[in-house]
Amino acid sequence: MSFSDMPVDVGPVYEGERIRGNQMYVELGGPKIKKHFELVRVKSAKEIKDGDVRLIGPDLTDMEEGERYPIGILVEVAGPELEEDLEAVFERRVHEFCNFVNGIMHLNQRYTNWMRISKSAFAKGLNNFEMLGTILIRLYKAELSIIKQAQVTFYTDAKEIEKPYEMAMQIYEKRDERARTIHDEDVDMFYGCVLCQSFAPTHACCITPDRTSLCGSINWFDARAAAKVDPKGPLFEVPPGECLNEEAGEFTGVNQMIKKRSLGEIERIYLYSGMEFPHTSCGCFEAIDFYIPEVNGHGIVDRNFDGVAINGLPFSAMANQTGGGKQMPGFNGVSIQYIVSPKYQSYDGLQMGLDGGIYTIVWMPKAVKDRVGEFLPEDLVNKIATEEEVQDLNKLKDWLKENNHPVVETWAELEAMEEEEEEEWEEAGAMVPMGTVGMTIPGIGGAGGFKVILKNCKIHAESIIIKKIEPKRRKK
Ligand code: SF4
Ligand code: ZN
Repeated sequence: MSFSDMPVDVGPVYEGERIRGNQMYVELGGPKIKKHFELVRVKSAKEIKDGDVRLIGPDLTDMEEGERYPIGILVEVAGPELEEDLEAVFERRVHEFCNFVNGIMHLNQRYTNWMRISKSAFAKGLNNFEMLGTILIRLYKAELSIIKQAQVTFYTDAKEIEKPYEMAMQIYEKRDERARTIHDEDVDMFYGCVLCQSFAPTHACCITPDRTSLCGSINWFDARAAAKVDPKGPLFEVPPGECLNEEAGEFTGVNQMIKKRSLGEIERIYLYSGMEFPHTSCGCFEAIDFYIPEVNGHGIVDRNFDGVAINGLPFSAMANQTGGGKQMPGFNGVSIQYIVSPKYQSYDGLQMGLDGGIYTIVWMPKAVKDRVGEFLPEDLVNKIATEEEVQDLNKLKDWLKENNHPVVETWAELEAMEEEEEEEWEEAGAMVPMGTVGMTIPGIGGAGGFKVILKNCKIHAESIIIKKIEPKRRKK
């Protein structure tokens, strides 16, 4: 496969390329554009005109520099071994293949896809979608040899994109609906994905029926189909092995997989916890589950939320804390689909004496609640605040009390425990146990907050005092 006829280079070496606002010729999709998508469909050979690239809407040369436009990418593929279950995994490769192009930056997936074309690539001659489509077709056929024919259609017109966008949304929903029908205990094989290691070298997804990949685009069925046709590819089988802790979702096979794939960096994963040995997060999670110490609860913020979350931080700031392939207790990248699973962070909920992980959730953006609300426990859904009810951490506590949120019951116990500990520390001359390996103190929200990570460190001190100042509860 050659790209010598193209005005820009194409190859994996360009994957990490970032195109900043002042370097971009145009932006396609992204959070400021309402309707955009990328979709792969498996078709019969006779429905495909191999190599064909179509454009519905303005081409790059018709676009105004510095502006934003919708983007729909529909890739249709055919091949005798192809099946519908492979569509989602093929679709995830749009991200990788677009990023191979020097001068194109691609982020996210499905209906959150976000691209930038650089000014320099445009100046070099990458000025039409025909070229991008041709590159995609060549890469699809070269990298996935079971694809024999491919055609690509781009939509860049705000009106024309509406119909295919609705179709794409229906297809995503159909995939998600199917994923909701099975659970981890129903299967004897999990799957792994390392597609994001070019950005986060210690990250590998473990994909189970209850834990759709954090990018939201690969569910258990999709991963199974991909591992079947290309067992040596980026998606592979993960035999769960022995279950070491049912509540936490700790499996010997998953631990072995992450140890091997993170090159020894990470040794244990609790699939159902954001607080202890959480699943690693790369950078393309659909949402973040974050701990809110002030109310001993969790919030969820999704990528599309452009305001400030209840802890005073925007998604982007929390994404920096969460991503990069680290194991970050208190900040966990998740898919929207995982939120509706009965296993959702269930360990964290059970540890708090609640009925499940979803009961730890005190706040989420309205748009997320609209999407997941019908699948949440009926007795809980009205007790979760959104930005419409509460925007500020100070008011959240009262709101949760008024609405009788289950976390409120944990406060009394927590306060009693804190007071007891406080007394113990005082009696013991303020000796505080320290120095666990990789210990993380999740961000103290509110006015921005901070985080302390102590990793493989040794601390020698006569004494350390860490005090939370809460005058009301102080006895002295
Ligand atoms: Fe694969 Fe996970 Fe990256 Fe999705 S987020 S592409 S499942 S590694
Ligand atoms: Zn990723």
